Amino acid sequence: MKLSELNTGEKGVIVKVTGRGMFRKRIMEMGFIGGEEVLSVRNAPLNDPVHYKVMGYDVSLRRSEAELIEVLPFSANAATGADNAKAPNTQPLTLSSNDVRTMARERGHTINVALVGNPNSGKTTMFNLLTGAHEHVGNYSGVTVDARCGIFRQGDYTFRIFDLPGTYSLSSYSPEERYVRSHLEDEHPDVIVNIVDASNPERNFYLTSQLIDMDMPMVVALNMFDTVQRSGGSIDYKSLSHLIGAPAVPVSGRSSLGMKELFEAVIRVYEGSEPSLRHIHINYGEELEEGITHMRRALKKIEHIDRHISKRLIAIRLLEKDADTELFIKSLPGGDIVLEERDEHSAYVESIIREDVETAVADARYGFVSGALLETFRRGDIGKREYSKAIDIVVTHRLLGFPIFLLFMWIMFEATFRFGALPMQWIETGVTWLGDFIGRIMPGGPLRDLAVDGIIGGVGGVLVFLPNILILYLFISFMEDSGYMARAAFIMDKIMHKMGLHGKSFIPLVMGFGCNVPAIMASRTIESRSSRMVTMLINPLMSCSARLPVYLLLVGTFFPGREGFVLFALYASGIALAVVMARLFKKILFKGEDLPFVMELPPYRLPTLRSVLVHVWEKGKQYLRKMGGVILVASIVIWFLGYFPLQPEGATEAAMEENSYIGRLGKFIEPALAPLGFDWKMSVCLLGGMAAKEVVVSTLGVLGMPEFTATAALSFMFFVLIYFPCIATITAISSEAGSWKWGAFAVVYTCMLAWIVSALVYNIGVWIGCSG
Ligand code: GDP
Ligand code: MG
Repeated sequence: MKLSELNTGEKGVIVKVTGRGMFRKRIMEMGFIGGEEVLSVRNAPLNDPVHYKVMGYDVSLRRSEAELIEVLPFSANAATGADNAKAPNTQPLTLSSNDVRTMARERGHTINVALVGNPNSGKTTMFNLLTGAHEHVGNYSGVTVDARCGIFRQGDYTFRIFDLPGTYSLSSYSPEERYVRSHLEDEHPDVIVNIVDASNPERNFYLTSQLIDMDMPMVVALNMFDTVQRSGGSIDYKSLSHLIGAPAVPVSGRSSLGMKELFEAVIRVYEGSEPSLRHIHINYGEELEEGITHMRRALKKIEHIDRHISKRLIAIRLLEKDADTELFIKSLPGGDIVLEERDEHSAYVESIIREDVETAVADARYGFVSGALLETFRRGDIGKREYSKAIDIVVTHRLLGFPIFLLFMWIMFEATFRFGALPMQWIETGVTWLGDFIGRIMPGGPLRDLAVDGIIGGVGGVLVFLPNILILYLFISFMEDSGYMARAAFIMDKIMHKMGLHGKSFIPLVMGFGCNVPAIMASRTIESRSSRMVTMLINPLMSCSARLPVYLLLVGTFFPGREGFVLFALYASGIALAVVMARLFKKILFKGEDLPFVMELPPYRLPTLRSVLVHVWEKGKQYLRKMGGVILVASIVIWFLGYFPLQPEGATEAAMEENSYIGRLGKFIEPALAPLGFDWKMSVCLLGGMAAKEVVVSTLGVLGMPEFTATAALSFMFFVLIYFPCIATITAISSEAGSWKWGAFAVVYTCMLAWIVSALVYNIGVWIGCSG
């Protein structure tokens, strides 16, 4: 609990002092140190300041200051009531002061660490390394869209690590910037670890300069130090630490180099024993500094101003016309007057420097950064960049870029089919053998039929496609990690503009080939709402890996020798439909222009075998889990519906199936799907596929293959491609769009579109068949 919540006469033990810079230092110097006992001498609800006794001294603190000190009270009730208290409810009513001290020390040894850095600086790689998590790493901006928390231990300290979204700055423009800023200001982590791509320091340090202004306890991780070393560069990180007032530690999240030192620095900063730690004022130039001084004076007049944020920073942000800060100041009594003064001062400053304040502040920051880097960074050869540039000239070439991309896609689908075929046969053989084996050892009857036809037939039918899906993911992972995905987005930018979207929408779309759910979540990085919405709505048309088994099954049977081509054509049709729908949605539902943006091109990196394998393995696990869950359940349900009610002896197998529950259900919906060339069995499969697309295949496995013509098979594949996004996707769309109506909309439009397209495919196919 907070010190401010300690009632008059109550005692507690200090756990930790949060807050920033000078304030924290001063409080700690007053004797508010972890493990010390503190007595609340007088604390009346409306009284400010509050009186405390600590280390034998009487101290008065403002309520807002006391809020930044975490304590563990001596009374047992309060101790168990405190948030995240480790003490169980069965704690005896009286705790010895030693117990409380021990608990306080333990809790004081838990350090909340926020990873802050540019997109692509390696935050998630480091997070995964430290916490053993397998979060997605990608070589383009905006993979991390949420904060994730993980635990890491070193010595007798426990670190709670937060992996935050990547940002280039802390202005309040994009959702990520807002998110990171509010995490830092509202959650006030104990220590910020600013992850910097040391092989590309200029841009990365811009964010660092803003963090310096925030004056929060910070350690700078000079990441990708391996790359710097390999190119023959070096960093005088000791001098750098002193220049920026925060320890800078060379690390590599990939090889775990420097991790121990990094967290030793975190502990020193937390305990207040880091020698380089000091608050730096970045010099914004004479005129601006004068404006800042005036604004600070004006801010002093506001009484209840937040103590977590430095007044200098608020002053700078106000002069920069930062929207969130304006809102915050406006909400305070006397805030309007401050804003008026701001207008006056910024107009004055701008009249002298002949530039808007925002630009001037940014320029000054870049000046600070270049100065600090010039003194401390020694560049190696820039071979790597040159090499990236050379590749870029080819793959983003005006004429060559697109065919290269298509070639890559085609190779991906060919490989998915060809390399997958062999292991697929092994699994198939295994499944057949298992079915025979179980069939032989179990006594005849419904139970054996359930095991052999229902479970092994259904789940086994889907299991055989595991190798193909792993291969597909292997390619997608490689594209993401190597940096090629960003190039692909770059080439696609023009085309995406024609759809009313931009290149940035392309990444979620390609990710959709894997699974639509994370892809829809990745759309969050698109700034404009209209583009974001359109990208999410068309994402289900990107054929996800769950649909692949359906295609593989049918393509292999009906289009031998042309499997890769048909697969490619299906995926391409999905894309083409997405283009059409995007244009339509943009015209009808989301009018309005998009702002231009910069497309990031990170340097190429050869992905490590480990990171690619980890991704593939994660996907494999997901697939297997799905098989044990929804697919197993669906197979059993379908089997039951197909087996019962039991038919009289002597009925033909076909008649038996048709009279079963599932047969009746299928017959019921058959007329609606007959124009697409589907019989009742196919209709039932599609019904099952609403839960998850693989269920289409498991249902075929349970019911047996219906009689397809090649045309009907094609029409069926198109229908599976387009209709009804799976439940998880609908949920993702609804929650990202903020309303279930959008999820419902996606269901309605995809089903209608699927019907129309399949009807066209089937009827044209039949017509060609007749006339040709
Ligand atoms: P984030 O956007 O900050 O979360 O960055 P990621 O963790 O997704 O990493 C971006 C890219 O940098 C990936 O391709 C990583 O494999 C690569 N990477 C991360 N850490 C290192 C490192 O220490 N050295 C090198 N050479 N590459 C790294
Ligand atoms: Mg990340």
